[in-house]
Amino acid sequence: MGCNHDCSSCSSKCGDEKQDMRLPVNEYSTVKKVIGVVSGKGGVGKSTVTSLLAVAAQSKGLQTAILDADVTGPSIPKAFGIHQRAEGDEQGLFPAESKLGIRVMSVNLLLEKEDAPVVWRGPVISGVINQFWQEVMWGDVDCMFVDMPPGTGDVPLTVFQGLPLDGIIIVTTPQDLVTMIVKKAYNMAKLMNIPILGLVENMSYFECPDCHKKHSIFGESKIDEVAEELGVPVLARLPIDPKTANLVDKGAVELVDTDILLPIIDKLSN
Ligand code: ADP
Repeated sequence: MGCNHDCSSCSSKCGDEKQDMRLPVNEYSTVKKVIGVVSGKGGVGKSTVTSLLAVAAQSKGLQTAILDADVTGPSIPKAFGIHQRAEGDEQGLFPAESKLGIRVMSVNLLLEKEDAPVVWRGPVISGVINQFWQEVMWGDVDCMFVDMPPGTGDVPLTVFQGLPLDGIIIVTTPQDLVTMIVKKAYNMAKLMNIPILGLVENMSYFECPDCHKKHSIFGESKIDEVAEELGVPVLARLPIDPKTANLVDKGAVELVDTDILLPIIDKLSN
């Protein structure tokens, strides 16, 4: 009775689940759309897909940013060949800029040595991610992609609560186990009332460069079944592509030549 959803001034422990814990961005930034890129486990290509989505968005003329929330395994700066330290002033931190002008913030830009391990506990990691949102002067951004921490634990949960995500994209690969993990990621987003925009299957197949036959290296894909079961679309299927791996490794993800993700950007802009 008489609840104004401001739990800070209330002693009643009613467990109001509708409390909005999303954090405001700072006065130096306007971010029109925030899209989380999620995977149930590491190594499926979440950071690669995040980077390629950002490249696709920027190439379509959108002011694009990446918030690297994968704090313990930050790979975004490396993919873009960004090695300088982040700079700031008393107002906040400036994001780094890629060659195409994509704005990036990552814990790797703050470390003394970029190969230093991040051995922080969950609450510290979540705090850093919230700071990236609140204290980085992002400027005017049409579309921000958040490379989410993998898994469905404490840290991703806090990010889901704190950032005003307009939707998430779940990245997966064709293996069996991954199917179950996709459902976990899906259920977590559902629980937090965040729209699930769809699935991207990475390393979906390998196309023979000579005969162009497609081979299912990781077994037959179950993505269509999973998508149907969950009632979400399959947004894209990316092949296993040694050229992509090579360019990402060299810090030249912006040179990956693919238009597979462009329809996702069209959907986001509508
Ligand atoms: P995650 O963020 O899920 O841990 P990454 O994006 O860092 O995964 O990818 C893991 C490795 O797989 C990287 O070396 C990356 O270059 C490679 N990789 C990702 N997607 C592809 C792909 N479609 N084809 C070839 N290599 C890929």
